Amino acid sequence: MHVKELVCIGCGETYTPDRPRYECGCGSSLDVRYDYDDVADAVSWNGLRSRPFNHFRYRAFLPRVDEEERIMMGGGGTPIVPSTVIGDELGIDLQFKLESLNPTGSFKDRGTAVELGTAMAFDADEIVVASTGNMGASIAAYAARAGVDATIYVPESVDGPKLDQMQRHGADIIKVDGDYNAAAKQAWTAYEHGGAYLMGDYPYRGEGEKTVGHEIVDQAEQNETDVDTVAVPVGNGTLIHAVWKGLSEMQQVGLTSGTPRMMGVQAAGCNTVVDALHKGFDAVEPVEDVDTVAGAIACGDPLDGDHAMNAIRESNGFGTAVSDEEILAAKQRLAEAEGIYAEEAGAAALAGILKDADLFEDGETVVCLVTGHGLKT
Ligand SMILES: [Zn+2]
Repeated sequence: MHVKELVCIGCGETYTPDRPRYECGCGSSLDVRYDYDDVADAVSWNGLRSRPFNHFRYRAFLPRVDEEERIMMGGGGTPIVPSTVIGDELGIDLQFKLESLNPTGSFKDRGTAVELGTAMAFDADEIVVASTGNMGASIAAYAARAGVDATIYVPESVDGPKLDQMQRHGADIIKVDGDYNAAAKQAWTAYEHGGAYLMGDYPYRGEGEKTVGHEIVDQAEQNETDVDTVAVPVGNGTLIHAVWKGLSEMQQVGLTSGTPRMMGVQAAGCNTVVDALHKGFDAVEPVEDVDTVAGAIACGDPLDGDHAMNAIRESNGFGTAVSDEEILAAKQRLAEAEGIYAEEAGAAALAGILKDADLFEDGETVVCLVTGHGLKT
């Protein structure tokens, strides 16, 4: 375990990793920092590849997690498949990373395994979380397996397979009159007053999600490809920052020489990060009335919005906002042309690629994250 400290991305305050922490006293997100000289000494391609292809292959880059067998059910290690149709049409080497094939059908399982493992290392036996659906479904499943009680706050609109997943795994579901941010407030209150461990888009979840970035480098090296751009849907912003962190870490420890640029894609009806990028703001401003068919990325006041913006800027990347019509068209195109069935948010990154196709160079390699399965809607 090579964690050095937690650092505030707003004011720079540092914290020791000896107890759970969710945000800085100033309200900004915390980032988990490591001693990368130690990590570099601990990793090599041969060593990594002697381990199974799942997210714990990269455990040298992760915080302490306890009881790995109780939080491991085959998460991570998702395939990258080349596009058979759309890439040729756009004149790019388009590849899909199928995060929809994680155990509960979304990328959330990576973050859940690490975050729950960390919670158990802090002796948590009860957790509380707010979710638009996928995170709750993932946490309910892993909590059931680990024997931990879970209470999940969801917006009233959450229904269908995601709600069914949560219920069948035995979580207590509390429907909140309002959107995701209203649910997040209630979860925070329950944590403050009830003493349960708070899960969600907080520092340790991003640590699990960054293994997407580790894997992209791992898979590209094996295919002898250089990835130019990674396209990621943006809700709370945790995933895109995490993927960027994973990619950067691989460079930092000498396992790869360059890093791709990050493309963040948001729904136009919840266009927080991309709007701030386009306007050159220093911080993301919340959106009051969120309106999109892509419920999984409908976060009007994104917890990691500034983190996401930093990742896109640091990588010399860019942001794109897509309409509901463009998201639905991408979902259909992905299913029809490529045989990949994604939920709306899971098709958002492709919608951005189709919209901004002229921003890619001929033949450049673009990895498009398909974050959630179509069976979840
Ligand atoms: Zn701070």
